[in-house]
Amino acid sequence: MIQPRPDAAPPTDWDLSPAPETVKVRIDPESRLYIDGGFAAAADGRTFETVNPASEQTLSRVADAGSADIDRAVEAARRALRGWSRTPAIERAKYLFRIARRIQDRSRELAVLETLDGGKPIKESRDVDVPLVAQHFFHHAGWCDKLRHAVPGRDPVPVGVCAQVIPWNFPLMMAAWKLAPALACGNTCVLKPAETTPLTAIRLAEIFEEVGLPPGVVNIVTGGPETGRLLVEHGDVDKVAFTGSTEVGKRIAASCAAKRRKVTLELGGKGPHVIFADAAIDQAVEGIVSGIWFNQGQVCCAGSRLLVEERVLEEVIEKLAWRMKSLRVGDPMDKNTDVGAINSRRQLDTIRGYITRGVDEGATLHECGDRPLPDRGFWCRPTFFSGVQPSQTIAREEIFGPVLAVMSFRTPEEAVARANDTAYGLSAGVWTDKGAKALEFARRAKAGVVWCNGFNRFDPTAPFGGFRESGFGREGGAVGLREYLA
Ligand code: NAD
Repeated sequence: MIQPRPDAAPPTDWDLSPAPETVKVRIDPESRLYIDGGFAAAADGRTFETVNPASEQTLSRVADAGSADIDRAVEAARRALRGWSRTPAIERAKYLFRIARRIQDRSRELAVLETLDGGKPIKESRDVDVPLVAQHFFHHAGWCDKLRHAVPGRDPVPVGVCAQVIPWNFPLMMAAWKLAPALACGNTCVLKPAETTPLTAIRLAEIFEEVGLPPGVVNIVTGGPETGRLLVEHGDVDKVAFTGSTEVGKRIAASCAAKRRKVTLELGGKGPHVIFADAAIDQAVEGIVSGIWFNQGQVCCAGSRLLVEERVLEEVIEKLAWRMKSLRVGDPMDKNTDVGAINSRRQLDTIRGYITRGVDEGATLHECGDRPLPDRGFWCRPTFFSGVQPSQTIAREEIFGPVLAVMSFRTPEEAVARANDTAYGLSAGVWTDKGAKALEFARRAKAGVVWCNGFNRFDPTAPFGGFRESGFGREGGAVGLREYLA
């Protein structure tokens, strides 16, 4: 860890030699749908392009699934359900185990593809995302023959055909969070990745082929919002699992309610970090860095509001500004890069809009360094605002970018009240030297996950999910399995 020395110049002038990732991956100029164990173009031949957000270059033209393709995918999943749900649990486990092993074998390739298509730094794809994806399949391989322990006193019966729609910030990880528990429970799936990051899901389909997963057990359909809508509203789907924005989640909730269909929703967040004066401040600053600037802040559970006990506020701001200046923004394929590209121009425009709003509403802007950014691509320097009022837009709305709103509190009561003063309830972090204080905060925080003296730690054994506008249902652990059992 870098020890902040406010008296020293920030290390922005360190020159590190370029350390580009050298693994070359195959990228097909045309990417197809994976339905019923085979790859095919969309029935009406439509495609859309997916670009590298760090260069704005087209990577591939991707099949845009329409209603005929969705029908075909759902029918394939329905046909496969009987065989897959009756496959002995120990055999299902072997498939999941093999998938996990192949993900490990092909981890470098998957990490590179994830970074090229999504813009996140290669060190995150390589060291965080892909290992967690493999872990998720390993973990659920172990559950296949132990499902009775997930639903004590009941027969573990699969729900059926699952429609799963995921966003672009953790494309592979979200696919694993959806597919692994569903398959472990004996369901079949139709998965739709986000339109800006479809490539790794299609690569995952190759792995399903390699391990001999029976046709139709997993189908992958690419496309935009309309493809997602057709899938979640399809008449022959038994369960919907959605991760994405609260706005779309509400629409899906309404349509599932009308159809009395089982649904889980993992939606947005505005997570608070609470730093008490007795915390180890240097470690807390590192936690804040990983909480908001990890994956360019495009994390649903990002710690995007920072609440600091008043008497250490100045110290925290000083150290944070110093540490922020040492972050390297740029080519995501360079192993030294800390902050990569924003996923799309649309998202970049949204983030910039919020930064302008923060300045207009009177908060003080602190921006990371003045090193030049690449000419092409979608870039946003890590940023934080001090002097933020809880009523201001940047303190209330999910920005989904590397922008942190810093506020203060005086008492533990006020810390809890401010932390809970949000429409969301996905994540929170507490930094203190006192275990009792941390536990009391965790008990009273309205958040699905509360990290203590750490942030953004994920584990397949731990349930993850939100309250209020962050959605309902859990993914991960035994609780997550129950969402895939009737
Ligand atoms: P989004 O809701 O626009 O899109 C998410 C996915 O839904 C995409 O695949 C998209 O094509 C699809 N979609 C869009 N409209 C649809 C519709 N009407 N019916 C069905 N599918 C539709 O969200 P986004 O901008 O891609 O992702 C960012 C959001 O996701 C943020 O709000 C973030 O907090 C949230 N998110 C939540 C979690 C979590 O676990 N809680 C994880 C990651 C992201």
